[in-house]
Amino acid sequence: MRSAIARGLFSASLGALLAASPAVAQDASKGFQFLYGSAEGAAISRQAFNGVVSLAMARKAQREAGLPLVQTVLAPGSTLENPAFEGCGEKPLAAVFDVDETMLLNVGFEYWDAGRPAGSTFSFKAWENWEKTGFDKVAAVPGALEAAANLRAAGIAVIYNTNRTSAHAEETARAIEFAGFPKPVPGQDLFTDGDGSGHKDLRRAAIASTYCVVAMGGDQLGDFSDLFSPKPMDIHARRATTAAPAIAALWGQGWFVLPNPVYGKGVVGDLDTVFPDTALRWTYSEGKEQ
Ligand SMILES: [Mg+2]
Repeated sequence: MRSAIARGLFSASLGALLAASPAVAQDASKGFQFLYGSAEGAAISRQAFNGVVSLAMARKAQREAGLPLVQTVLAPGSTLENPAFEGCGEKPLAAVFDVDETMLLNVGFEYWDAGRPAGSTFSFKAWENWEKTGFDKVAAVPGALEAAANLRAAGIAVIYNTNRTSAHAEETARAIEFAGFPKPVPGQDLFTDGDGSGHKDLRRAAIASTYCVVAMGGDQLGDFSDLFSPKPMDIHARRATTAAPAIAALWGQGWFVLPNPVYGKGVVGDLDTVFPDTALRWTYSEGKEQ
């Protein structure tokens, strides 16, 4: 189960199954096309990584100018309405990234998952096996290798914080290496889920105790804070959490989101749920043009 949490709990296929909507199932296949096949998806990823590098370089210049920096990791006691950020002091600079669909594309697993019969249930057991055996069937997210290399060249550490299980930390390190990154060392620059909670705040706090985290990247909101959707909630209420004033200013200015239309809490909801405002609905019948 913990490894299912690693992926954000739901595949698009599972979300579609729960929604029981053929239209959503059709959209799920569009997610695969976009993330693993499209130029546009690749461009969005590069856009995010270009932003990470630009911001990190700006923070490095501020450090060199003697200006104080603050963490992009939320301080303990923060809320989304009233977030707080601790000062960095003289801690070395770092950028923190999620792994799956942030730095790594799980090409092999998603090929298998995309080909499952429509309506079949997502296999958590399959994902467990994928973590153990799929390390040579992954690819880097577009732009990730260049960003990691540029950050390291500037003396900015690259740290991975993933909800893949600690039992498979070595295999995860091998997957990261296979994709072209320097192989990370568990406990040093690779932090995994040791308790099956799927929560990252404790690991983020541990990283921030050592580093000045100037940027974070992820494809799920939990890659930035566990305060987002701590329990199942209405998708539009969840969507609104990104707009809390102090949080809204972070997107692209410390927190960088990678695209993932394939799985996760962002890929749920049937037509009525996604389009609740009946006043905004438009219909059209072919052959009955006015
Ligand atoms: Mg991810």
